[in-house]
Amino acid sequence: MIYLDNAATTPVFDEVAEIIYNSLKNDFYNPSSLYLPANKVLKKIETARATIAAYLNVKPAELYFTSCATESNNFAVFNGFKNKKGNIVASAGEHASVYEPLMQLYNKGTDVRFAQLISGGQVDTEKFLDLIDGNTSFVSIIHKSNETGALNDIKNLSLLAKQKNKNLIFHSDGVQAFGKINYKDCLENVDIYSISAHKIGGPKGVGAIVIKNSLKMQPYLFGGGQEKNMRSGTENISGILGFEKAVKLFYEKYDPENISVLNKKIITILTEKIPQIKINTSDISSNIISVSIPCINAEILQRLLCDDGILIGLGSACASKLKTNRVLSQMGIESTYITGSIRLSLGIKNTISEVEYACEKIAYHTNRLKGQSIG
Ligand code: PLP
Repeated sequence: MIYLDNAATTPVFDEVAEIIYNSLKNDFYNPSSLYLPANKVLKKIETARATIAAYLNVKPAELYFTSCATESNNFAVFNGFKNKKGNIVASAGEHASVYEPLMQLYNKGTDVRFAQLISGGQVDTEKFLDLIDGNTSFVSIIHKSNETGALNDIKNLSLLAKQKNKNLIFHSDGVQAFGKINYKDCLENVDIYSISAHKIGGPKGVGAIVIKNSLKMQPYLFGGGQEKNMRSGTENISGILGFEKAVKLFYEKYDPENISVLNKKIITILTEKIPQIKINTSDISSNIISVSIPCINAEILQRLLCDDGILIGLGSACASKLKTNRVLSQMGIESTYITGSIRLSLGIKNTISEVEYACEKIAYHTNRLKGQSIG
């Protein structure tokens, strides 16, 4: 099987699965209990928190574990904006787990403004800044698009946004960026940041949210007071320890140079064999490559490739039941192209021969679906 849908999810590292298994068996104590074995488990959680926080270059106390990035994003939108008046500014390229909570607020009367994207998929900086005014209290800009791989320069955008309004809260969905970039001072002006374990070889059902200490945010789940009272609920110990190991392994194994080589190969073969193709990903270092082939049905292509043992995406897996693609249409892509849009997303294990084979098959099936000879 050739797996080219790593933006949807990634295979769990063997070492991570082992840690999860051992932890489920041995670390079953409730971390809130006061006896020694439970306390040891609590310490393991704190070590995991410190490890993950270090990769993001934030303080351990600023990182809270959640059940997934969807929860982190809902937490950010609803509690980052809670009790606030004013407006919200977000990019038109947000993932559904930010967009849908924003639409909930919009439908209840909040002024939510979406900044347009440029053709490469990044938010248009000028248009974004134009939407911010003295009443803007919450901003959300996806770090790396799950649809196109477009990387937003959130270091610069958060700085510029705060120069316009120093009181706004800046959130970024970092799910697709985490594991692939070096953070340094990237989050300096970012107040809230969301990540997920299953996009980097970790288990599903574990995420985290960074909430800067300077921010006085309300708790999200009320109960036993876990996660410093911010997010009650007995901790997912094995998931958190698996997340910690996945972060270490992913940062060790992810090779941006190899990803660039594979990315270039995909674009070269596809543009040569399918001249009408539109490449929606401008960044050659991106592991996510979105392309649109006019007048074909991408769902049929996906099924034919699956029969050949090749798994690709059609865009966000969370939105795969929707017939249109909100983000691609925001980029100005016409509907005849959107129906034929596929997403190839590379992981640490993909090889050049895999992508060559997959691209040959994509061209072959496209040719047949169009009933004409290509290349
Ligand atoms: N944000 C982005 C950019 C994503 O790609 C995803 C997953 O598809 C999510 C959020 C949601 O993550 P989770 O599956 O952990 O809820």
